[in-house]
Amino acid sequence: MISLEYVPVGKQKMQEWYGHPPVNIVNGKLAPDLEWWKKYMVRITLPFRLELDYAPKTYMVRPYVNKHIGPALVDAFEEILDFYGVGEIEHFHLNLSSGIYKRKFQRGANDTLSLHSYGAAIDYLPNFGKWGEKSRIPHVVHVAFEERGFMNYPHTDGFHWQGARGV
Ligand SMILES: [Zn+2]
Repeated sequence: MISLEYVPVGKQKMQEWYGHPPVNIVNGKLAPDLEWWKKYMVRITLPFRLELDYAPKTYMVRPYVNKHIGPALVDAFEEILDFYGVGEIEHFHLNLSSGIYKRKFQRGANDTLSLHSYGAAIDYLPNFGKWGEKSRIPHVVHVAFEERGFMNYPHTDGFHWQGARGV
């Protein structure tokens, strides 16, 4: 099994590990930072394609992620694929994602960036519990992420998995 090499705890350790893209607001929007991107973001190949829940028929196959979560993330999806197989993954709608990299602040914050801004979080299976609901994601899926060091908030944000704690 390939786990996260290191799971930072707290904002400062998280920023040291995943890099800290500066908060640049251009025309009211968070602008990407190319220097940070080049240093930290890599492309991974997922073992099965994920469909974007907000853009049906749009698939994510080789997404960019922070280099520090890439190997563990691919390995978690390998385990899910081994357990279900492609047919069941499609049948049970275990292929929906709301994405990985997004420049945005944390919910309700205007100065703290979301872990998605670091490429260090994935939103997977929003169809098994929206934000604010208790998550209904299958146990096998939960364990595949949790045993590799990812964490979520099963009572409020079960589809969000991040490679850091206390942030
Ligand atoms: Zn999320």
